[in-house]
Amino acid sequence: MRSILARVRAGGDDALRELTARFDGARIDEIAVPLAEAAAALDRIDPELREALSQAARRIRRFHEHQSEPAQPFSSEGITVTLRRIPVERAGVYVPGGRAKYPSSLLMTAIPPKVAGVGAVAVCVPPAGDGSLPDEVLAAAALAGVDEIYRVGGAQAIAALAYGTKSVPAVDVIVGAGSRIVSLAKQEVRGVVGVPAAFAGPSEVVVIADESAPAMAAGLDVVVQAEHGPDGLAWLVTWSERALGEINRLIGEIVSASPRRPEIESTLEKGGYGVLVDSPEQAMAVANAIAPEHLELCCEEPGISSRSCGTPAQSSSAPSPPPRSATTTPARATSFPPSAPPASRACSESRTSTAGSTSSRRAKRAWRRRPRPSQPSPGPRGSTPTPARCSRGKAVPESAPAGRGSLVDRPGYHSPQVDVAVRLNTNESPEGPSAEYRAELSRIAGGLELNRYPDRRASLLRRGIAARHGLSEENVFCANGSNEVLMCLLLFFGGAGRKALVFEPTYALHRHIAELSGTEVVLGKRDERFAIEPGPAAELVARHRPAVVFACSPNNPTGNLERLELLGDLAAAAAPGLLVIDEAYGQFSPESATSLLGEHENLAVVRTFSKSWALAGLRLGYLLSSSEVVAGCERSSLPYHLGSFTQAAGLAALAHEEEMTARTSRLLQERERLARRLEALAVETWPSSANFILFRPRSRGGHEVWEGLLSRSVLVREVSSFPRLEDCLRVTVGTREENDAFLEALAQVLEGPR
Ligand code: PMP
Repeated sequence: MRSILARVRAGGDDALRELTARFDGARIDEIAVPLAEAAAALDRIDPELREALSQAARRIRRFHEHQSEPAQPFSSEGITVTLRRIPVERAGVYVPGGRAKYPSSLLMTAIPPKVAGVGAVAVCVPPAGDGSLPDEVLAAAALAGVDEIYRVGGAQAIAALAYGTKSVPAVDVIVGAGSRIVSLAKQEVRGVVGVPAAFAGPSEVVVIADESAPAMAAGLDVVVQAEHGPDGLAWLVTWSERALGEINRLIGEIVSASPRRPEIESTLEKGGYGVLVDSPEQAMAVANAIAPEHLELCCEEPGISSRSCGTPAQSSSAPSPPPRSATTTPARATSFPPSAPPASRACSESRTSTAGSTSSRRAKRAWRRRPRPSQPSPGPRGSTPTPARCSRGKAVPESAPAGRGSLVDRPGYHSPQVDVAVRLNTNESPEGPSAEYRAELSRIAGGLELNRYPDRRASLLRRGIAARHGLSEENVFCANGSNEVLMCLLLFFGGAGRKALVFEPTYALHRHIAELSGTEVVLGKRDERFAIEPGPAAELVARHRPAVVFACSPNNPTGNLERLELLGDLAAAAAPGLLVIDEAYGQFSPESATSLLGEHENLAVVRTFSKSWALAGLRLGYLLSSSEVVAGCERSSLPYHLGSFTQAAGLAALAHEEEMTARTSRLLQERERLARRLEALAVETWPSSANFILFRPRSRGGHEVWEGLLSRSVLVREVSSFPRLEDCLRVTVGTREENDAFLEALAQVLEGPR
């Protein structure tokens, strides 16, 4: 992302054209869009949508006019203080594209600066492959009365707005929501330009409904906010069991029919609740405790609004506030809808139309399909809501213990688990272990002394693993997956006041656990083929003296293998710091760093049974290192952390090594076949020494392709959020049939209509 900013800064309009061709697949000669095109789009769009957008624009304008009324001078003890608001000269508005069209986002972010009297409002929107902008968004620009429109998106748009180019003059302040890359870019240019909320956080909504609420509208409002991202918050609060049941049922239907089901489900899993309370007062207590970004009241209670109405027609500036803003931002008010019934009807109509212009139309269209179990209610009926603060989308009572500093708002590290026909997103083995081995597991399970704690040291298993590598028991530490090994390592060798060095893009959990353990993370770079660069790596090690250096080889998600010579040199340079070589995919590559173990006391190689051994469900990983490093891990692990079944099953697996080797060579053949077939498609690929392949569609956005595959029931991993992997996807090598299904779906997505 930094390289994008630097490129635009140095290359101006040419860089914008080149980056737009690369990221949006669009050739743009003219970067500025004439305002006449916006006016023409306003004429062209569906009259119903035009009316809904106009109405929304009117309301937003009125709301902000009301907000910007001059403050009364304040006098006390003969002193008068006056608050004057002075508008900036130029404001930049970023309007996201890609996943959907966001005319409402434009209205909500472009109208406030216009009302505030900003001299010129410039809007940036990512173009489609043919360089055009959506009519709906152009129409909204016309309604908002913006002064300039540019067909440029992503970090390059933020760079243009911040530094200025020939076509895009620099602005004083940038507002508007965008992808993570856009948010990071905003964070980066903060200081050059004003950025009120670099991280437009995940959406939050609390819908309070009673039996009079139109259940579909209430359900849709919960889902529409949940659709915005994985870390949002979407609560339904009601004192009517019937309303809860009915709305929940509809939410289930909307979700299961939505093409964005994974995003919605990941929000609902963590931040979605259906809450049954005793009274409207309790419902308000819950809402006040959560203080959400959007509060919707769908009830008949006098004094409370009687309609459900989405953000576009209603809210002040929905895309910009950070998460849980109402509890963290002193001056922000949660928007309340008006209460008069006629307004409520109009509002509800306009919600239908504007929501219909975003992806929620797809959810609406198909919500009469399969039902889905409702979300759990967090508390028994009748439990009195206690005052709460919010942590990661959940309200937690004031009396509950608080998480440590930055951890409170940190997402956990979890891949979505979606039910699809072809699952190629987590690098598991597509084949399970043999029937003989499984029969052995049944015998093992039957003979365990389950009333006793397991062997604390897992001696037999460690001995078995040690023998396999020509080492002794003191050189092996086992844990629940290699992830737990990494955690034990960082708990002991990392921590506050220490540093860990990682080379991005790489397995994100290294950084994640380092930060969890309070270790400061230093980021190193890789060359154009994603190999660690020896010179810069040595410099970083000399400058920071990290306690732990991570090298993932073969690297996830790029697939490349590090040269053993580099790893040896890195180990020597890092000493007495630890060099951890993560070989989760070691069996798929021709060489292993285990051959370096005798030479460096500070070298640790981490391996797993989750991939080539086909035992991801067992959770077993191990570390090979000097006895001092192993002793450190033992001191940071919990007593009896490795269950007796896992120990015995792991030991038994070692006796079936031939099975593992045969499976691995089958997968390697498949990997080569898959790589060759991918070469024939319009994608860029990278050579892999692991059981997955990294690729980037040449003419389509990565997310668009990911969605296209998912809609054909093929799940791959989207890795575009990794540094330098914009638009990239990672596909796990599956069975021949799975790979063919993936290739066929990919060809369809790449060739199909946009
Ligand atoms: N290291 C790397 C590089 C990985 O990709 C993974 C799994 N995706 C792991 C470690 C963790 O594996 P496990 O905890 O299943 O052993």
